[in-house]
Amino acid sequence: MENCLFCKILAGEIPSSKVYEDEYVYAFRDINPQAPTHILVIPKKHVGSIAEADQASDAELAACLRAVRKIALDEKLENGYRVVSNCGPDACQSVPHLHFHILGGRKMAEEMA
Ligand code: AMP
Repeated sequence: MENCLFCKILAGEIPSSKVYEDEYVYAFRDINPQAPTHILVIPKKHVGSIAEADQASDAELAACLRAVRKIALDEKLENGYRVVSNCGPDACQSVPHLHFHILGGRKMAEEMA
């Protein structure tokens, strides 16, 4: 997708700190980390958000969650972690390419928002 920041990262046009990659998924460190570990997991296919998840296959969607699990193990987040996917303006989604934040390495706030 033209002009999509994460598609440009996938194309190698913008550098990223790669953590994981498979057939369906790419994961990299967030440029502005909100926790000691802050990783973004994105589908390689451009999908705007969970609201557009009907445009992704079950394999693509499942691959995102399986990647979250694998990365959390690799990053040794055995004490827990939070997975967040902001969807749309009320959630302050700033990059319109589906992504799952993995946040860990510290105790999260009890409030969700
Ligand atoms: P969201 O606000 O949920 O759409 O999350 C977008 C995330 O992308 C934010 O946490 C940003 O810090 C992160 N981000 C923006 N540009 C980059 C980049 N070039 N490399 C890595 N992470 C980025």
